[in-house]
Amino acid sequence: MSSESRRRGLLFVVSAPSGTGKTTLVERLVERVPNLRMSRSYTSRPMRPGEADGVDYHFISREQFEAMIRTGAFMEWADVFGNLYGTSRADTEQVLARGEDLVLVIDVQGARRVRQGRIPATSIFVLPPSFEILEQRLRGRSRDDEPQIRRRLAVARDEVGAYREYDYLVINDHLEPAVERLRSIVVAECARREAMELDAKRILESFTKRIAVSN
Ligand code: 5GP
Repeated sequence: MSSESRRRGLLFVVSAPSGTGKTTLVERLVERVPNLRMSRSYTSRPMRPGEADGVDYHFISREQFEAMIRTGAFMEWADVFGNLYGTSRADTEQVLARGEDLVLVIDVQGARRVRQGRIPATSIFVLPPSFEILEQRLRGRSRDDEPQIRRRLAVARDEVGAYREYDYLVINDHLEPAVERLRSIVVAECARREAMELDAKRILESFTKRIAVSN
């Protein structure tokens, strides 16, 4: 199919404070929605045990990351807890041009950059049910020491305060209903007239041709 006759993919941005479980949510979401992919970011953060390069992230050095910033390779990027994270402009364009929908799991600053860049996207903010539950989850995963947990909770408060900047909100109280809510948002966005325009035109044309033939 030529690119003019193919629908361009839709871009989704998902943000949530760390510990909200957004990665699990979005992993389940992409398993459930055909044609939806999760973007793979670049990061300067060191790999954690169990992670793999090119799977969880593209792991690069800070120097390589800074060089990519200089050449404008990132559609958005941010410094999160002292590490750099970014979404490749070229990778994103390739996926959308192929007609696939793409979800970026990025922080609040990155989502702001997408908006400032006037990049068409639907944004979703995932909220933890409460401060207490987020605190429990952060302690439960025992990845961070006490000062790190405190820092994440303070950042989380600022991030939750940014919920008004997003198009949709999902509270992650229970995994399954939260995934379904996310899925509903994606399905509804894909059914918007603007997103369906090419299909609708094709259907209309089939009528026009038949009626022209029979007259
Ligand atoms: P982690 O190091 O725990 O994998 O991720 C830390 C934070 O970085 C998360 O809030 C995650 O959403 C955010 N993040 C991951 N990739 C990107 C990205 O490409 N851009 C931005 N702005 N944030 C990202």
